[in-house]
Amino acid sequence: PGPLMKGKKGLVLGVANDRSIAWGIARVLAGQGADLAFTYQGESFGRRAKPLAESTGATIIEPCDVEDYESVERVFDRIREEWGKLDFVVHALAFSDRTELKGRYCDTSRANFSRTMEISCFSFTEIARLAADLMTDGGSLLTLTYGGSNKVVPCYNVMGVAKAALEASVRYLASDLGGKGIRVNALSAGPMRTLAGAGISDARMLFHYQADNSPMGRTPTLDEVGGSALYLLSDLSGAVTGEVHFVDCGYSTIFMPSLESMKA
Ligand code: NAD
Repeated sequence: PGPLMKGKKGLVLGVANDRSIAWGIARVLAGQGADLAFTYQGESFGRRAKPLAESTGATIIEPCDVEDYESVERVFDRIREEWGKLDFVVHALAFSDRTELKGRYCDTSRANFSRTMEISCFSFTEIARLAADLMTDGGSLLTLTYGGSNKVVPCYNVMGVAKAALEASVRYLASDLGGKGIRVNALSAGPMRTLAGAGISDARMLFHYQADNSPMGRTPTLDEVGGSALYLLSDLSGAVTGEVHFVDCGYSTIFMPSLESMKA
């Protein structure tokens, strides 16, 4: 078989640098022949993001801040003009005030709760609606989540609540759009060393705990996350929708860590 994404056109949101999950996914997709469009969150992120995007041959590279609806709409206008259609979207962005990614969840402020939900959850719903209009041959929408959505992870706090809402959105969007042949899934990645990951207090400790207590004794690589995203975005997963797919070296399957780790 030829490259899995040949002839497919997709939008990638969330590249900040070469450690971003969005970039890990984009480079696997580009390697499989996809045509990619990219967004970056303003010019300070653009300095690192634009050269990465250009290295894939991308011609649509647009600033987009999901708090600003006009900038979101402009991206889809540009795609409509240049491509006239869209096959997939990778939504790999989230934000919360780092001063609230520590301590107690119940101390979350009203303002940061709303902002976290708007950027980290609502943006996917809005983008799904705009993208669906351009998905004339069906399509695949993918967002990134973390297991702190359905079980408690220290310091993850309001982001865990936003991820739970994001995962629920995936199911509602899958139901809304399934009839148009559009699939909607979330990839739940194990902890990765990224800019956003470093915003969580004691991230290093959480990272090592999850690595040490997962069946595989480690966390996933960017390429492994990219490979699983390739499956969810390509026709290989043609009958998969509304799912949260764990790519976490098995951590989410463990109720109690191994006897060895208890004795250590
Ligand atoms: P990252 O810092 O590389 O990427 C986060 C991106 O979000 C950045 O590109 C940033 O510009 C973008 N962003 C934030 N606010 C935005 C806004 N208002 N408008 C547009 N873009 C905005 O970090 P990452 O870890 O690659 O994060 C990507 C996704 O993966 C996030 O949804 C994150 O929650 C999720 N995730 C991360 C981990 C991890 O351990 N790093 C694990 C599971 C899921």
